[in-house]
Amino acid sequence: MTLEVCLFPCLNDNYGFLVRDVETGTIATVDTPDADAILAELERSGWGPLSLILNTHWHPDHTQGNAALQAATGCRIIGPEEVRRAAPLDDVVRGGDTVMLGATRLEVADTPGHTLGHIVYRSVADNLAFVGDVLFNMGCGRLFEGTPEQMWSSLQILAAWSDQTVIWCAHEYTAANARFALSLDDRPEMQARAAEIMAMRERGEPTVPTTLAAEKAFNPFLRATDAADFAARRAAKDSFTG
Ligand code: ZN
Ligand code: FE
Repeated sequence: MTLEVCLFPCLNDNYGFLVRDVETGTIATVDTPDADAILAELERSGWGPLSLILNTHWHPDHTQGNAALQAATGCRIIGPEEVRRAAPLDDVVRGGDTVMLGATRLEVADTPGHTLGHIVYRSVADNLAFVGDVLFNMGCGRLFEGTPEQMWSSLQILAAWSDQTVIWCAHEYTAANARFALSLDDRPEMQARAAEIMAMRERGEPTVPTTLAAEKAFNPFLRATDAADFAARRAAKDSFTG
């Protein structure tokens, strides 16, 4: 019930994740943006063989390594049914299910909006969650398939978790997100947060993970007052060029 997480950049702006259950040594990867990068990181980690792929949603930048990783390692692939649109999948999971990563229990929640079948994985014991393209540091996923109401409900599921929850997001979009956030809200603490983000990016540091507490303080989408306000903010972000 203790997880170690190794994060590494993949493709242009994705993150790859290797996750290790300390008690049993079982290894998973969350999503598969780039099979070669994930295999290289696995090698570097010295953590041993890959047991599981955990997919969050069907988009190619989250599933395109499934086949090659399974061919290379024989791992099992777990995810929402929609993954089958793009890639191989062994076991379908949905909201309310649990996935065992060695001795660690991961709870699955349905979080439609970015895609209709998007799910997230959370370890309550470790106070962490892998949220794919639902929530980003100071941002949220685009509504490719769902309605603003669906995405707003999904964000409320995350918002109900403990403030200390560590949030592992699947993309590094934070600098652009911070510019949009500042356009809506330029409180001094927001300016300080944006400056901190820009400095981290300039040093080449990832801004992932974040925490739910930080997102409640600074994320303009979590700070919307209701679904209509969320919809207006999401539409404004889609056309924001600043
Ligand atoms: Zn996506
Ligand atoms: Fe993505």
